[in-house]
Amino acid sequence: MYIDLTKLSEGRKDFDETIQVDLDEESVRLLEPCRIFGELKKGIVQVDVAGKIIAKVEMECSRCLTPVESTLEISFKVSYITEEHYTNEKDSELHGEELEISIYDGEKIDLTDLAREQILLNLPAQTFCSENCQGLCPKCGANLNQKTCDCETKEIDPRWANLKNLRF
Ligand SMILES: [Zn+2]
Ligand SMILES: [Zn+2]
Repeated sequence: MYIDLTKLSEGRKDFDETIQVDLDEESVRLLEPCRIFGELKKGIVQVDVAGKIIAKVEMECSRCLTPVESTLEISFKVSYITEEHYTNEKDSELHGEELEISIYDGEKIDLTDLAREQILLNLPAQTFCSENCQGLCPKCGANLNQKTCDCETKEIDPRWANLKNLRF
């Protein structure tokens, strides 16, 4: 999904789109097309895009790997400049502001790319199916929320439980 800027001279434009985004990540997927809405301001040098993304995603519980649904609400503010200007201006007034700078081709803004980037940037570091998720047995891999196993029961250091979830 693109916003075409060639027909937009200096000025502003509101947008509100629902788009399908392929996150291309193993541990998280989008459950339905996400909504992205906001305002675009086209200046002489840069295009400022600010708004919100609402995305319903499914992630794995960091302890027991059960899929967990959650809805992310992400506020974003990104400035687009062309590559040419990026080289010229990166040390000038754009520098140091708390803005994310993206390069664009001077003609269109790719909302799909923008949404994918923002969703991946804003994923929580950890997700839990419930506050007191028991995780997986480190010995037999049983989901301890669903059953107890016969393995030696001792307190599992949560740091080890997390290591267990790393994929190699
Ligand atoms: Zn869990
Ligand atoms: Zn076990």
